[in-house]
Amino acid sequence: MRGVNKHFGELHVLQDIELTVGRGEVVVVVGPSGSGKSTLCRAINRLEPIERGTILIDGQPLPAEGKGLAKLRAEVGMVFQSFNLFAHKTVLQNVSLAQIKVRGRAKAEADAKSRSLLERVGLSAHADKYPAQLSGGQQQRVAIARALAMDPKALLFDEPTSALDPEMINEVLDVMRQLASEGMTMVVVTHEMGFARASANRVVFMADGRIVEDRAPEDFFSAPESARARDFLSKIL
Ligand code: ADP
Ligand code: MG
Repeated sequence: MRGVNKHFGELHVLQDIELTVGRGEVVVVVGPSGSGKSTLCRAINRLEPIERGTILIDGQPLPAEGKGLAKLRAEVGMVFQSFNLFAHKTVLQNVSLAQIKVRGRAKAEADAKSRSLLERVGLSAHADKYPAQLSGGQQQRVAIARALAMDPKALLFDEPTSALDPEMINEVLDVMRQLASEGMTMVVVTHEMGFARASANRVVFMADGRIVEDRAPEDFFSAPESARARDFLSKIL
């Protein structure tokens, strides 16, 4: 992201954002509620239009609309706090749908890939169930499998464990830790500081629409530079 700016009315929600995420890097984004973390995530694949600045994916500027946008958007998977599964489709159908519609895969090929991804996230036995029959942690793992099914170049996670009961948080973080260790490029908004310490290459701290710190996790947690970050950490740690 180069010089990215966005307002919601009077609110300058993204201010001169400069952020580079290298291939295979895991960048954890933290900051107080309302600081612009979700907007930043959504702007990366243009779910949120921006006013000024450029977003490049794999060196290519992300087009503002049209077929080019759909194609590049499919390169960057997104996992939300609220799972966003289709309630009237089975787990298998949820993972296969975009492969067929966006990637143009035959159904048999898509289903085979879906089954192997469901196995990878520990859900082989649940392929024919509906989302409502699964726990929140299982639903979130389906959402991750669905994102992976598109063979994304990068994955964005916006508070993927915030809606989960505590005992389910680890089963989702385990899948994310695994992806991180396999070299997946990831941008993760989370309050799970254990994940940030163990899996992040960098921690980006946002406040009031700005990136205030962008540092290695050990430096950020042991010696935050800004008063804002010190204040934030004192409240959550
Ligand atoms: P975070 O994810 O860090 O909590 P958000 O990116 O969701 O922050 O929101 C940043 C600010 O932008 C907040 O003040 C929020 O109320 C505001 N905001 C978010 N989405 C919209 C919207 N669609 N319209 C107007 N204001 C919005
Ligand atoms: Mg948010």
